[in-house]
Amino acid sequence: MSVKKVRSLLIHLLMAAVILTACAPAATEAPPAATEPPEVATEAPAATEEPAATEAATEAPAEITDTELNVLCTPQEQWCQGMKQEFEAKYGITVNYVRMSSGEALARVQAEKDNPQFDIWWGGPIDSYVAAKGEGLLEAYDSPNYANLTDPAKMKDPDNYWVGIYVGTLGFATNQDWLDANPGVEAPTSWDDLLKPEFKGQVMVAHPSSSGTSYTALATVLQIRGEEAGWEYLQQYAGQISQFTKSGAAPAKFVGQGEAAVGIVFSHDIVNEIENNKLPLVLTFPEEGTGYEIGGMALLKGAKHPQAAKLWFDWALTPEAQALGPTFAAYQAPTVKGVELSHPELLEVNLIEYDFQWAGEHKQEFVDKFTNEIANAENLKE
Ligand code: PLP
Repeated sequence: MSVKKVRSLLIHLLMAAVILTACAPAATEAPPAATEPPEVATEAPAATEEPAATEAATEAPAEITDTELNVLCTPQEQWCQGMKQEFEAKYGITVNYVRMSSGEALARVQAEKDNPQFDIWWGGPIDSYVAAKGEGLLEAYDSPNYANLTDPAKMKDPDNYWVGIYVGTLGFATNQDWLDANPGVEAPTSWDDLLKPEFKGQVMVAHPSSSGTSYTALATVLQIRGEEAGWEYLQQYAGQISQFTKSGAAPAKFVGQGEAAVGIVFSHDIVNEIENNKLPLVLTFPEEGTGYEIGGMALLKGAKHPQAAKLWFDWALTPEAQALGPTFAAYQAPTVKGVELSHPELLEVNLIEYDFQWAGEHKQEFVDKFTNEIANAENLKE
């Protein structure tokens, strides 16, 4: 075996070991059939001996008949805009997109079931895609670029209704200035810490009805504690909240601006606020385990521009497209081979064995329960 090959193998084993170690049993009453955390690409193309990820399948077909593409875009605005421009430059197809948080996007797709206005849904935790698949809203597609996936068993629906395009972990963002003004108080490192009296009215998170980030947090708590204790916890947690926001990433910004002490947000969004917007935030993770998202993508059933939608789908599964993330301040881990992780440390934390199937199948029920019994979705902060 060549040195390169051994090195490649070692890096993969090390990564797998890190992830497995991080998987120490945190769940007490977790639902059945929990899944292993994903394997993600760990190195740049030159250093890997994996079969080369293909770009051939993204070559434009001989005749492109679709001249536009309507994208339902759930990640942050900057990434949506950047991907639109890159795709337009590559294929000469006009991209129209609307940015919507996961819950709003799912509601839109449900409402437009008989006359879909979007061709493809790109981004946002797959829990919502699992729910959409169950309602017959998605179109299956066997992309040639599934071959590029690092961990196809985890990163793709077995029936080809959705695929993973990134991975991100949930973290806590605490305002350093607030910590300095409250000596003796430390940034939270457990879900229990969020319930401490010093954080009363000081925690900010999105509402799970609109946000996939917040739903990931809700489903994480239920998986770590079991449903009975989990709902009791969520009742108390809601009592600590200063205000629910509409979008999942917003609390990192508001906490950074001093509107609350702690936000529950995907860690890559916290990194964005620290590195690009220079907000005074400390990033911590719950030591007993945190949830993670697989950001999804799917074709919408009845799409009016299926050819262009498949082009975007194939393109989004190339290393070229996934390597664009950090240039648009998106620091999620890629799901295809041959892309260097911008922030590998965000995955080197104690991840629970998040059960996406279970979380997706119960999404409506759990969101309704939270909204009706714990905190309604009125007056969400934009
Ligand atoms: N923006 C970023 C950067 C994300 O990683 C995600 C999660 O997929 C979202 C937005 C999803 O947004 P929301 O929680 O508002 O549904």
